[in-house]
Amino acid sequence: MIAAIILASGSGERFKKNIPKQFIKLAGMPVLAHSIKVFQTSLDIAEIVVVCHESFIDQVWHLVAQYSLSKVVKVVCGGETRQASSRIGIECCKNAEYVLIHDGVRPLVTERIIRDIVDSVKIHKAVNTVIPSVDTIVAVDPDGFIEEIPDRSFLRRVQTPQAFEYNLIKRAHEKAIIEGIEDATDDCSLVLRLGHSVYAIAGDEQNMKITYPLDLHIADRLIQLRNHSD
Ligand code: C5P
Repeated sequence: MIAAIILASGSGERFKKNIPKQFIKLAGMPVLAHSIKVFQTSLDIAEIVVVCHESFIDQVWHLVAQYSLSKVVKVVCGGETRQASSRIGIECCKNAEYVLIHDGVRPLVTERIIRDIVDSVKIHKAVNTVIPSVDTIVAVDPDGFIEEIPDRSFLRRVQTPQAFEYNLIKRAHEKAIIEGIEDATDDCSLVLRLGHSVYAIAGDEQNMKITYPLDLHIADRLIQLRNHSD
């Protein structure tokens, strides 16, 4: 059984709106509903768990009913950090052999990405979704000086979903807690800390994370373009 965990417990501080960005409407439907719908449609996914802030649990159940997202089996209260929310989601999927963990603020994830990562996780046990970096990335020191300019051809930008064999990601989170790691922005880093390799599949430039108000306009336009090409 393969489960999807949709993380939606962020406060969206960078978005500067009263409601968190995952609940803002995009092309007539909340961002979070778009994200869940792709997993609902995927034949590989049996169950979906949504992790959100306590005060939004009822709103998520309402959205689940409104958009017929029948694979959603649990809506649970998230934690202080993304890592904590992810751990809570994992605890809810004890019957799953594999889990896909996805940011609720990436509404344009594609069925192709889900298919590829599911195929890949059965072989590699831990898989990330990445895209090439078109920009050069630099590392800066605390004083603002450039410390290092890594070779761009080896760098990738990380998206979600990230997929894992259930026992592996559970162990990775347990080890992180024992070692005092509490604020990892990404689940794959915890698996790497176990000494286990993580494979990377190709994401999609359109699988953007809605972070700033401008992103909503871009996503809206991308949905319009998709609808025209159908
Ligand atoms: O803040 P960031 O961009 O890393 O958030 C990525 C995803 O993790 C978002 O979908 C957000 O709602 C979720 N998150 C969460 N619990 C937190 C912080 C972030 O579920 N405490």
